[in-house]
Amino acid sequence: MSIRLVEETTPSQRRGSSPVQPRFDLTLSENPFPPLPSVLRAVNSVLAQANRYPEFLPRRLPKLIAHHLGLHSDQVVVGSGATGVAMQIIQSLMRPGAGMVYATPTFDGYPIMAEMAGVEVVPVPLDSAGNQDLWAMTRAIDKRTGLVVVCRPHNPTGTVVSASELKAFLGAVPARVPVILDEAYVEFLGAAEYIDPLALLSKHPNLLVLRTFSKAYGLAGLRIGYAFGRPEMMARVRRLQLPFGVSSAAVAAVSASYAAEPELAMRTMRITAARESLRNALRRCGIAVPLSHANFLYLPGPGVATALRRAGIAAKAYPDGSARISVGDPEADHAVLQALETLR
Ligand code: PMP
Repeated sequence: MSIRLVEETTPSQRRGSSPVQPRFDLTLSENPFPPLPSVLRAVNSVLAQANRYPEFLPRRLPKLIAHHLGLHSDQVVVGSGATGVAMQIIQSLMRPGAGMVYATPTFDGYPIMAEMAGVEVVPVPLDSAGNQDLWAMTRAIDKRTGLVVVCRPHNPTGTVVSASELKAFLGAVPARVPVILDEAYVEFLGAAEYIDPLALLSKHPNLLVLRTFSKAYGLAGLRIGYAFGRPEMMARVRRLQLPFGVSSAAVAAVSASYAAEPELAMRTMRITAARESLRNALRRCGIAVPLSHANFLYLPGPGVATALRRAGIAAKAYPDGSARISVGDPEADHAVLQALETLR
């Protein structure tokens, strides 16, 4: 299998200028399910007090998350989605002009945040199978490097670097360089691919694990994300915590979501099962879709993004004609297949 990957587009390119509303919007790797009734009830009850400020600096949410993960509160920093926390990490740990090493293409947010923070980007191309090339990333690290980002699973391909590769990579990164392990889609990993982040943290004080409630928990609109790591590292990141920056709804939503883990896990299973059957069907049509461990599929072009758009399906489009689609809505999955069946 050989897929050609190129730089991601900017958000304005992504949104496009078409005045026609698409039938399906699969651009943002969202969860197709609306919030669970129990989560909605919890959020609603807090909204009745929306005239009140939330905590000045969030304490309850880090405590809740830390308890759930078996960490201490001082190891967790929360923010406005994983994006908000990543921005906080960049601003607190990097000096302007320092280099940020990541695989490309990647989550659009990284180059955007780098530009906002005035740091240099050091994009390292994925290999031909859509994997992050960890060796090339190691070689890209120099004395100016201020941050390295590894996504597991990777966006946009959904691929996963193996545990042994990741461990070797972390061992090769100089201890003074912080590493973000972006686990935005970690809940979609199978048991065989899961790595215990606590074991990694015990060996690597420079590691920060980034997670979100936007994907498997289906709460993208509430903007809740967090990072965890060693207390000393997290104290540096916490220094830039925005006062009143996390809404009161976040604590209620997270607490209700943790109480509903089995229901949420069922949804995750449905999404991953739908992803597999769509991938198999698309591969039968001749599209070399890489094995994905997330809630999206990368569909290598050319012509894929155009065919989808013509069928009223908005996808994340890449300059070479490839596309990334979120999966799990049966109607949308069916429409994708219909749109691409005759492409090859
Ligand atoms: N990391 C990755 C790899 C992502 O794909 C995304 C969102 N698409 C994020 C972080 C940010 O997610 P959020 O800000 O919604 O938590």
